[in-house]
Amino acid sequence: MAGLFCWGDFGTVLTLRRDLNRFFRADAIKSRAFIPPSMALIVQKYGGTSVGNPERIRQVAKRVARYRAQGHDVVVVVSAMSGETNRLIALAKEIQPHPDPRELDVMVSTGEQVTIALLCMALMSLGLKARSYTGAQVRILTDSAHTRARILRIDEANIRANLAAGSIVVVAGFQGTDEHGNITTLGRGGSDTTGVAIAAALGADECQIYTDVDGVYTTDPRIVPEARRLETVTFEEMLEMASLGSKVLQIRSVEFAGKYKVRLRVLSSFEEEGEGTLITFEEDNDMEQAIISGIAFNRDEAKLTLLGVPDRPGVAHQILGPIADANVDVDMIIQNVGVDGLTDFSFTVHRNEFSKARAILEQVQPHLKARDIRGDDRIAKVSVVGVGMRSHVGIASRMFRALSEEGINIQMISTSEIKISVVIDEKYMELAVRVLHKAFELDRAPTGV
Ligand code: ADP
Ligand code: ASP
Ligand code: MG
Repeated sequence: MAGLFCWGDFGTVLTLRRDLNRFFRADAIKSRAFIPPSMALIVQKYGGTSVGNPERIRQVAKRVARYRAQGHDVVVVVSAMSGETNRLIALAKEIQPHPDPRELDVMVSTGEQVTIALLCMALMSLGLKARSYTGAQVRILTDSAHTRARILRIDEANIRANLAAGSIVVVAGFQGTDEHGNITTLGRGGSDTTGVAIAAALGADECQIYTDVDGVYTTDPRIVPEARRLETVTFEEMLEMASLGSKVLQIRSVEFAGKYKVRLRVLSSFEEEGEGTLITFEEDNDMEQAIISGIAFNRDEAKLTLLGVPDRPGVAHQILGPIADANVDVDMIIQNVGVDGLTDFSFTVHRNEFSKARAILEQVQPHLKARDIRGDDRIAKVSVVGVGMRSHVGIASRMFRALSEEGINIQMISTSEIKISVVIDEKYMELAVRVLHKAFELDRAPTGV
Protein backbone atom coordinates (compact mmCIF):
# COMPACT_ATOMS: atom_id res chain seq x y z
CA MET A 1 0.00 0.00 0.00
CA ALA A 2 1.66 3.19 -1.08
CA GLY A 3 0.32 6.28 0.62
CA LEU A 4 0.87 9.97 0.92
CA PHE A 5 1.72 11.18 4.39
CA CYS A 6 1.89 14.74 5.61
CA TRP A 7 4.64 15.44 8.04
CA GLY A 8 4.26 17.89 10.88
CA ASP A 9 3.65 21.55 10.24
CA PHE A 10 5.49 21.63 6.96
CA GLY A 11 3.01 19.32 5.30
CA THR A 12 5.82 17.63 3.40
CA VAL A 13 4.61 14.75 1.31
CA LEU A 14 6.37 11.49 1.90
CA THR A 15 5.69 8.29 0.06
CA LEU A 16 5.59 5.36 2.39
CA ARG A 17 5.85 1.91 0.95
CA ARG A 18 4.69 -0.10 3.91
CA ASP A 19 2.14 -2.80 3.59
CA LEU A 20 0.36 -2.11 6.85
CA ASN A 21 -1.80 -5.19 6.74
CA ARG A 22 1.22 -7.43 6.45
CA PHE A 23 2.73 -6.16 9.67
CA PHE A 24 -0.23 -5.46 11.88
CA ARG A 25 -2.07 -8.72 11.58
CA ALA A 26 -2.76 -10.11 15.01
CA ASP A 27 -0.89 -13.34 14.29
CA ALA A 28 2.21 -11.42 13.26
CA ILE A 29 2.09 -9.51 16.53
CA LYS A 30 1.67 -12.68 18.51
CA SER A 31 4.47 -14.56 16.80
CA ARG A 32 7.16 -15.39 19.32
CA ALA A 33 10.26 -15.15 17.20
CA PHE A 34 10.98 -12.08 15.19
CA ILE A 35 11.72 -13.12 11.63
CA PRO A 36 11.93 -10.05 9.49
CA PRO A 37 10.81 -10.47 5.90
CA SER A 38 13.75 -11.10 3.61
CA MET A 39 15.28 -7.93 2.18
CA ALA A 40 13.59 -5.79 4.78
CA LEU A 41 14.55 -2.23 5.58
CA ILE A 42 15.41 -2.02 9.24
CA VAL A 43 16.28 1.00 11.37
CA GLN A 44 18.29 0.12 14.47
CA LYS A 45 18.89 2.64 17.24
CA TYR A 46 21.61 2.01 19.82
CA GLY A 47 21.62 3.96 23.08
CA GLY A 48 24.57 5.30 25.08
CA THR A 49 25.45 2.14 27.01
CA SER A 50 25.24 0.09 23.82
CA VAL A 51 28.03 2.22 22.30
CA GLY A 52 29.73 3.00 25.62
CA ASN A 53 33.25 1.84 24.67
CA PRO A 54 35.16 0.55 21.61
CA GLU A 55 34.33 -3.07 22.43
CA ARG A 56 30.60 -2.31 22.62
CA ILE A 57 30.83 -0.45 19.30
CA ARG A 58 32.47 -3.52 17.73
CA GLN A 59 29.60 -5.65 19.07
CA VAL A 60 27.08 -3.27 17.51
CA ALA A 61 28.95 -3.49 14.20
CA LYS A 62 28.78 -7.30 14.36
CA ARG A 63 25.03 -7.26 14.92
CA VAL A 64 24.52 -4.84 12.03
CA ALA A 65 26.72 -7.06 9.88
CA ARG A 66 24.53 -10.08 10.71
CA TYR A 67 21.41 -8.27 9.52
CA ARG A 68 23.23 -7.14 6.40
CA ALA A 69 24.37 -10.69 5.70
CA GLN A 70 20.71 -11.77 5.78
CA GLY A 71 20.08 -9.36 2.92
CA HIS A 72 18.48 -6.51 4.83
CA ASP A 73 19.09 -2.82 4.31
CA VAL A 74 20.12 -1.28 7.61
CA VAL A 75 20.08 2.31 8.82
CA VAL A 76 21.67 2.75 12.23
CA VAL A 77 20.99 5.65 14.59
CA VAL A 78 23.36 6.06 17.52
CA SER A 79 23.48 8.03 20.76
CA ALA A 80 26.59 9.51 22.29
CA MET A 81 28.75 7.17 24.39
CA SER A 82 27.17 6.76 27.83
CA GLY A 83 27.87 9.68 30.16
CA GLU A 84 29.14 11.89 27.32
CA THR A 85 26.09 14.14 27.03
CA ASN A 86 26.10 14.69 30.81
CA ARG A 87 29.82 15.44 30.70
CA LEU A 88 29.35 18.03 27.96
CA ILE A 89 26.45 19.72 29.75
CA ALA A 90 28.47 19.90 32.99
CA LEU A 91 31.39 21.39 31.09
CA ALA A 92 29.16 24.06 29.57
CA LYS A 93 27.80 24.92 33.02
CA GLU A 94 31.32 25.52 34.30
CA ILE A 95 31.59 28.40 31.86
CA GLN A 96 27.99 29.62 31.90
CA PRO A 97 25.69 28.45 34.73
CA HIS A 98 22.67 28.71 32.42
CA PRO A 99 24.28 27.87 29.08
CA ASP A 100 23.12 29.69 25.98
CA PRO A 101 20.76 27.17 24.31
CA ARG A 102 22.15 27.61 20.79
CA GLU A 103 25.73 27.14 21.92
CA LEU A 104 24.75 24.22 24.16
CA ASP A 105 23.25 22.47 21.13
CA VAL A 106 26.41 23.08 19.11
CA MET A 107 28.31 21.45 21.93
CA VAL A 108 26.18 18.47 22.99
CA SER A 109 25.55 17.38 19.42
CA THR A 110 29.26 16.49 19.17
CA GLY A 111 28.71 13.41 21.36
CA GLU A 112 26.73 11.67 18.63
CA GLN A 113 29.13 12.88 15.94
CA VAL A 114 31.88 10.84 17.58
CA THR A 115 29.90 7.60 17.72
CA ILE A 116 28.67 7.70 14.11
CA ALA A 117 32.26 7.87 12.86
CA LEU A 118 33.49 5.18 15.25
CA LEU A 119 30.69 2.82 14.25
CA CYS A 120 31.40 3.35 10.55
CA MET A 121 35.07 2.54 11.19
CA ALA A 122 34.04 -0.64 13.03
CA LEU A 123 31.75 -1.62 10.15
CA MET A 124 34.50 -0.98 7.61
CA SER A 125 36.85 -3.18 9.65
CA LEU A 126 34.34 -5.97 9.06
CA GLY A 127 34.57 -5.35 5.33
CA LEU A 128 31.26 -3.51 5.03
CA LYS A 129 30.46 -0.29 3.23
CA ALA A 130 29.32 2.34 5.71
CA ARG A 131 28.73 6.06 5.71
CA SER A 132 27.99 8.41 8.58
CA TYR A 133 25.71 11.43 8.60
CA THR A 134 25.11 14.11 11.19
CA GLY A 135 21.53 15.32 11.55
CA ALA A 136 22.33 18.40 9.49
CA GLN A 137 23.97 16.32 6.73
CA VAL A 138 20.89 14.12 6.36
CA ARG A 139 18.88 17.24 6.69
CA ILE A 140 16.71 16.47 9.61
CA LEU A 141 14.86 19.75 9.65
CA THR A 142 13.55 20.89 13.03
CA ASP A 143 11.98 23.97 14.51
CA SER A 144 14.31 26.40 16.29
CA ALA A 145 13.46 25.47 19.88
CA HIS A 146 17.04 24.77 20.99
CA THR A 147 17.52 21.85 23.43
CA ARG A 148 13.96 20.60 22.79
CA ALA A 149 13.44 20.96 19.05
CA ARG A 150 10.78 19.08 17.11
CA ILE A 151 11.43 17.31 13.83
CA LEU A 152 9.51 18.83 10.93
CA ARG A 153 10.91 17.02 7.93
CA ILE A 154 13.53 14.51 6.91
CA ASP A 155 15.13 14.55 3.47
CA GLU A 156 15.66 10.86 2.97
CA ALA A 157 17.27 11.12 -0.50
CA ASN A 158 20.85 10.80 0.80
CA ILE A 159 19.99 7.81 2.92
CA ARG A 160 18.16 6.05 0.11
CA ALA A 161 20.99 6.68 -2.37
CA ASN A 162 23.53 5.18 0.02
CA LEU A 163 21.36 2.18 0.75
CA ALA A 164 20.91 1.64 -2.98
CA ALA A 165 24.69 1.69 -3.33
CA GLY A 166 24.96 -1.08 -0.75
CA SER A 167 26.09 1.03 2.20
CA ILE A 168 25.01 0.88 5.78
CA VAL A 169 23.94 4.35 6.77
CA VAL A 170 24.80 5.55 10.26
CA VAL A 171 22.96 8.65 11.47
CA ALA A 172 23.65 10.77 14.56
CA GLY A 173 20.66 10.66 16.90
CA PHE A 174 19.31 13.55 18.98
CA GLN A 175 20.10 16.32 16.50
CA GLY A 176 18.91 18.25 13.50
CA THR A 177 19.13 21.65 11.94
CA ASP A 178 16.65 24.49 11.75
CA GLU A 179 15.76 26.41 8.59
CA HIS A 180 18.63 28.86 9.24
CA GLY A 181 21.21 26.08 9.51
CA ASN A 182 21.53 26.23 13.31
CA ILE A 183 22.26 22.91 14.99
CA THR A 184 19.38 21.84 17.23
CA THR A 185 18.88 18.96 19.66
CA LEU A 186 15.69 17.05 20.44
CA GLY A 187 15.69 16.86 24.24
CA ARG A 188 17.25 14.19 26.48
CA GLY A 189 16.71 10.71 25.14
CA GLY A 190 16.05 12.23 21.70
CA SER A 191 17.92 9.59 19.70
CA ASP A 192 14.88 7.33 20.10
CA THR A 193 12.88 9.97 18.25
CA THR A 194 15.49 10.24 15.49
CA GLY A 195 15.29 6.47 15.03
CA VAL A 196 11.53 6.32 14.79
CA ALA A 197 11.28 9.44 12.62
CA ILE A 198 13.78 8.02 10.13
CA ALA A 199 11.91 4.71 10.13
CA ALA A 200 8.70 6.62 9.39
CA ALA A 201 10.28 8.70 6.64
CA LEU A 202 11.74 5.62 4.95
CA GLY A 203 8.69 3.44 5.52
CA ALA A 204 11.01 0.96 7.26
CA ASP A 205 9.72 -2.51 8.03
CA GLU A 206 10.78 -2.28 11.67
CA CYS A 207 12.44 0.17 14.02
CA GLN A 208 14.50 -1.63 16.66
CA ILE A 209 15.52 0.29 19.78
CA TYR A 210 18.55 -1.47 21.31
CA THR A 211 19.25 -0.61 24.93
CA ASP A 212 20.62 -2.07 28.16
CA VAL A 213 17.41 -3.94 29.07
CA ASP A 214 15.80 -6.61 26.90
CA GLY A 215 12.47 -4.85 26.50
CA VAL A 216 9.83 -2.81 28.24
CA TYR A 217 9.26 -4.07 31.78
CA THR A 218 6.33 -3.85 34.15
CA THR A 219 8.40 -1.16 35.86
CA ASP A 220 12.03 -0.07 35.90
CA PRO A 221 13.94 -3.28 36.72
CA ARG A 222 16.56 -1.18 38.51
CA ILE A 223 13.96 -0.35 41.17
CA VAL A 224 12.04 -3.63 41.23
CA PRO A 225 14.22 -6.64 40.40
CA GLU A 226 11.06 -8.80 40.10
CA ALA A 227 9.80 -6.65 37.22
CA ARG A 228 8.80 -8.69 34.19
CA ARG A 229 9.44 -8.08 30.53
CA LEU A 230 6.27 -7.48 28.52
CA GLU A 231 6.09 -9.35 25.22
CA THR A 232 3.83 -6.67 23.85
CA VAL A 233 2.56 -3.37 25.12
CA THR A 234 -0.11 -1.30 23.43
CA PHE A 235 0.85 1.97 21.89
CA GLU A 236 -1.49 3.84 24.25
CA GLU A 237 0.05 2.23 27.31
CA MET A 238 3.55 2.95 26.08
CA LEU A 239 2.60 6.55 25.46
CA GLU A 240 1.29 6.89 29.02
CA MET A 241 4.28 5.11 30.51
CA ALA A 242 6.73 7.30 28.59
CA SER A 243 4.89 10.49 29.51
CA LEU A 244 4.66 9.43 33.16
CA GLY A 245 8.39 8.89 33.50
CA SER A 246 9.48 5.50 32.04
CA LYS A 247 12.66 6.65 30.36
CA VAL A 248 13.05 3.54 28.23
CA LEU A 249 11.56 5.42 25.24
CA GLN A 250 11.40 9.17 24.73
CA ILE A 251 7.72 10.16 24.53
CA ARG A 252 8.05 11.82 21.14
CA SER A 253 9.38 8.60 19.64
CA VAL A 254 6.21 6.84 20.79
CA GLU A 255 4.07 9.65 19.38
CA PHE A 256 5.83 9.30 16.01
CA ALA A 257 5.38 5.54 16.05
CA GLY A 258 1.67 6.01 16.67
CA LYS A 259 1.19 8.70 14.07
CA TYR A 260 3.01 6.88 11.29
CA LYS A 261 2.29 3.33 12.47
CA VAL A 262 5.94 2.42 12.73
CA ARG A 263 6.49 -1.13 13.89
CA LEU A 264 8.58 -0.47 17.00
CA ARG A 265 10.45 -2.97 19.14
CA VAL A 266 12.66 -2.53 22.23
CA LEU A 267 15.53 -5.03 22.54
CA SER A 268 18.79 -5.60 24.39
CA SER A 269 22.09 -4.91 22.65
CA PHE A 270 23.76 -7.12 25.25
CA GLU A 271 21.97 -10.31 24.22
CA GLU A 272 22.27 -12.26 21.02
CA GLU A 273 18.71 -13.57 21.00
CA GLY A 274 15.31 -12.43 22.16
CA GLU A 275 12.21 -10.76 20.79
CA GLY A 276 12.21 -7.86 23.22
CA THR A 277 8.94 -5.96 23.48
CA LEU A 278 6.79 -5.09 20.51
CA ILE A 279 4.61 -1.97 20.67
CA THR A 280 1.24 -2.98 19.25
CA PHE A 281 -1.53 -0.89 17.79
CA GLU A 282 -4.43 -3.09 18.72
CA GLU A 283 -5.95 -3.70 22.09
CA ASP A 284 -5.26 -7.25 23.10
CA ASN A 285 -8.64 -8.65 23.99
CA ASP A 286 -7.56 -12.10 24.98
CA MET A 287 -7.65 -13.50 28.50
CA GLU A 288 -3.92 -13.09 28.93
CA GLN A 289 -4.27 -9.32 29.04
CA ALA A 290 -3.41 -7.94 32.47
CA ILE A 291 -5.52 -5.13 33.90
CA ILE A 292 -2.42 -3.17 34.78
CA SER A 293 0.55 -3.36 32.44
CA GLY A 294 3.05 -1.22 34.24
CA ILE A 295 4.05 1.25 36.90
CA ALA A 296 5.80 4.49 36.02
CA PHE A 297 7.38 7.05 38.29
CA ASN A 298 8.87 10.45 38.00
CA ARG A 299 10.74 12.70 40.40
CA ASP A 300 11.04 15.61 38.03
CA GLU A 301 8.06 17.54 39.34
CA ALA A 302 7.41 20.12 42.06
CA LYS A 303 4.14 21.19 43.68
CA LEU A 304 2.86 24.71 44.30
CA THR A 305 -0.25 25.72 46.29
CA LEU A 306 -2.03 29.02 46.70
CA LEU A 307 -4.01 28.93 49.94
CA GLY A 308 -7.24 30.85 50.44
CA VAL A 309 -7.98 32.17 46.96
CA PRO A 310 -11.49 33.44 46.14
CA ASP A 311 -13.88 30.73 44.92
CA ARG A 312 -15.22 32.61 41.88
CA PRO A 313 -15.09 32.41 38.09
CA GLY A 314 -11.78 33.38 36.49
CA VAL A 315 -9.48 32.54 39.37
CA ALA A 316 -7.90 29.47 37.73
CA HIS A 317 -7.16 31.60 34.69
CA GLN A 318 -5.68 34.39 36.83
CA ILE A 319 -3.32 31.85 38.40
CA LEU A 320 -2.40 29.67 35.43
CA GLY A 321 -2.57 32.33 32.68
CA PRO A 322 0.71 34.01 33.74
CA ILE A 323 2.29 30.58 34.26
CA ALA A 324 1.41 29.60 30.68
CA ASP A 325 2.57 33.00 29.38
CA ALA A 326 5.96 32.25 30.92
CA ASN A 327 6.07 28.97 28.93
CA VAL A 328 5.93 26.84 32.05
CA ASP A 329 4.13 23.53 31.50
CA VAL A 330 1.64 22.54 34.17
CA ASP A 331 0.92 18.88 34.81
CA MET A 332 -1.56 18.08 37.61
CA ILE A 333 -4.07 20.67 38.84
CA ILE A 334 -6.27 20.39 41.91
CA GLN A 335 -8.79 22.87 43.23
CA ASN A 336 -10.51 22.18 46.51
CA VAL A 337 -14.25 22.48 47.07
CA GLY A 338 -14.82 26.07 48.24
CA VAL A 339 -15.67 26.84 51.86
CA ASP A 340 -16.89 30.32 52.91
CA GLY A 341 -16.07 31.71 49.46
CA LEU A 342 -12.44 30.57 49.60
CA THR A 343 -10.57 27.61 48.16
CA ASP A 344 -7.02 26.22 47.80
CA PHE A 345 -5.43 25.76 44.39
CA SER A 346 -2.50 23.38 43.74
CA PHE A 347 -0.60 22.37 40.62
CA THR A 348 2.66 20.72 39.61
CA VAL A 349 5.39 21.93 37.25
CA HIS A 350 8.75 20.53 36.17
CA ARG A 351 11.25 20.82 39.01
CA ASN A 352 13.54 22.99 36.89
CA GLU A 353 10.74 25.56 36.64
CA PHE A 354 9.84 25.56 40.33
CA SER A 355 11.47 28.89 41.23
CA LYS A 356 10.17 30.56 38.08
CA ALA A 357 6.60 29.41 38.82
CA ARG A 358 6.87 30.41 42.47
CA ALA A 359 8.04 33.91 41.54
CA ILE A 360 4.99 34.25 39.27
CA LEU A 361 2.67 33.18 42.12
CA GLU A 362 4.24 35.80 44.36
CA GLN A 363 3.13 38.42 41.85
CA VAL A 364 -0.36 36.95 41.55
CA GLN A 365 -0.89 36.53 45.32
CA PRO A 366 -1.70 40.16 46.23
CA HIS A 367 -4.29 40.46 43.42
CA LEU A 368 -6.12 37.40 44.69
CA LYS A 369 -5.54 38.20 48.35
CA ALA A 370 -4.40 34.62 48.76
CA ARG A 371 -3.48 33.71 52.34
CA ASP A 372 -0.18 31.99 51.55
CA ILE A 373 1.96 30.21 48.96
CA ARG A 374 3.32 26.75 49.68
CA GLY A 375 5.87 24.96 47.55
CA ASP A 376 7.41 21.50 47.65
CA ASP A 377 10.07 20.30 45.25
CA ARG A 378 10.57 16.98 47.00
CA ILE A 379 7.62 15.14 45.55
CA ALA A 380 7.32 12.15 43.23
CA LYS A 381 4.56 10.99 40.94
CA VAL A 382 3.78 7.28 40.81
CA SER A 383 1.32 5.94 38.23
CA VAL A 384 -0.31 2.64 37.37
CA VAL A 385 -1.07 2.18 33.67
CA GLY A 386 -3.19 -0.35 31.81
CA VAL A 387 -5.82 -0.49 29.09
CA GLY A 388 -7.58 -3.14 31.19
CA MET A 389 -8.69 -0.33 33.51
CA ARG A 390 -11.34 0.60 30.97
CA SER A 391 -13.29 -2.55 31.72
CA HIS A 392 -12.49 -3.07 35.40
CA VAL A 393 -13.51 -1.25 38.53
CA GLY A 394 -11.74 -1.11 41.87
CA ILE A 395 -8.26 -0.35 40.55
CA ALA A 396 -8.01 2.98 42.36
CA SER A 397 -9.14 1.53 45.68
CA ARG A 398 -6.62 -1.30 45.35
CA MET A 399 -3.91 1.25 44.68
CA PHE A 400 -4.89 3.49 47.59
CA ARG A 401 -5.16 0.56 49.99
CA ALA A 402 -1.68 -0.70 49.09
CA LEU A 403 -0.21 2.76 49.71
CA SER A 404 -2.11 3.26 52.97
CA GLU A 405 -0.90 -0.10 54.31
CA GLU A 406 2.62 1.29 54.04
CA GLY A 407 1.60 4.60 55.62
CA ILE A 408 2.27 6.51 52.40
CA ASN A 409 0.28 9.74 52.25
CA ILE A 410 -1.27 10.70 48.91
CA GLN A 411 -0.99 14.42 48.23
CA MET A 412 -2.65 14.63 44.82
CA ILE A 413 -4.49 12.23 42.51
CA SER A 414 -5.20 12.38 38.81
CA THR A 415 -6.78 9.82 36.54
CA SER A 416 -7.38 9.16 32.87
CA GLU A 417 -9.10 6.26 31.16
CA ILE A 418 -6.01 4.06 31.39
CA LYS A 419 -3.93 5.47 34.27
CA ILE A 420 -4.08 6.60 37.89
CA SER A 421 -1.32 8.88 39.18
CA VAL A 422 -0.60 9.95 42.74
CA VAL A 423 1.79 12.54 44.08
CA ILE A 424 3.62 11.45 47.22
CA ASP A 425 6.66 12.46 49.26
CA GLU A 426 9.75 11.72 47.18
CA LYS A 427 11.34 9.68 49.94
CA TYR A 428 8.64 6.98 49.62
CA MET A 429 8.81 6.70 45.85
CA GLU A 430 10.72 3.44 45.54
CA LEU A 431 8.70 1.83 48.32
CA ALA A 432 5.47 2.90 46.60
CA VAL A 433 6.58 1.42 43.27
CA ARG A 434 7.51 -1.86 44.95
CA VAL A 435 4.26 -2.23 46.92
CA LEU A 436 2.13 -1.38 43.90
CA HIS A 437 4.06 -3.82 41.74
CA LYS A 438 3.22 -6.48 44.31
CA ALA A 439 -0.37 -5.37 44.89
CA PHE A 440 -1.15 -5.72 41.18
CA GLU A 441 0.78 -9.01 40.99
CA LEU A 442 2.93 -7.71 38.18
CA ASP A 443 5.74 -10.07 39.10
CA ARG A 444 3.54 -12.97 37.94
CA ALA A 445 2.60 -13.77 34.37
CA PRO A 446 -1.04 -12.74 33.76
CA THR A 447 -3.45 -15.60 34.33
CA GLY A 448 -6.58 -14.00 32.93
CA VAL A 449 -8.94 -11.41 34.33
P1 ADP B 1 19.54 4.20 26.24
O1 ADP B 1 20.81 4.87 26.67
O2 ADP B 1 19.76 2.90 25.55
O3 ADP B 1 18.64 5.12 25.47
P2 ADP B 1 17.96 4.62 28.63
O4 ADP B 1 18.76 4.71 29.88
O5 ADP B 1 17.47 5.88 28.03
O6 ADP B 1 18.80 3.77 27.58
O7 ADP B 1 16.69 3.66 28.84
C1 ADP B 1 16.88 2.35 29.36
C2 ADP B 1 16.62 2.35 30.85
O8 ADP B 1 15.26 2.68 31.09
C3 ADP B 1 16.79 1.02 31.53
O9 ADP B 1 18.13 0.79 31.89
C4 ADP B 1 15.86 1.10 32.72
O10 ADP B 1 16.56 1.39 33.90
C5 ADP B 1 14.96 2.29 32.40
N1 ADP B 1 13.52 1.99 32.51
C6 ADP B 1 12.60 2.76 33.15
N2 ADP B 1 11.41 2.21 33.09
C7 ADP B 1 11.53 1.05 32.38
C8 ADP B 1 10.62 0.04 31.99
N3 ADP B 1 9.31 0.09 32.29
N4 ADP B 1 11.11 -0.99 31.26
C9 ADP B 1 12.41 -1.05 30.94
N5 ADP B 1 13.31 -0.13 31.30
C10 ADP B 1 12.90 0.92 32.01
N1 ASP C 1 22.78 11.57 24.00
C1 ASP C 1 21.49 12.14 24.27
C2 ASP C 1 21.15 12.03 25.75
O1 ASP C 1 21.96 11.54 26.53
C3 ASP C 1 20.41 11.55 23.42
C4 ASP C 1 20.12 10.08 23.66
O2 ASP C 1 20.96 9.38 24.24
O3 ASP C 1 19.07 9.63 23.23
O4 ASP C 1 20.09 12.45 26.16
MG1 MG D 1 17.30 6.63 26.10
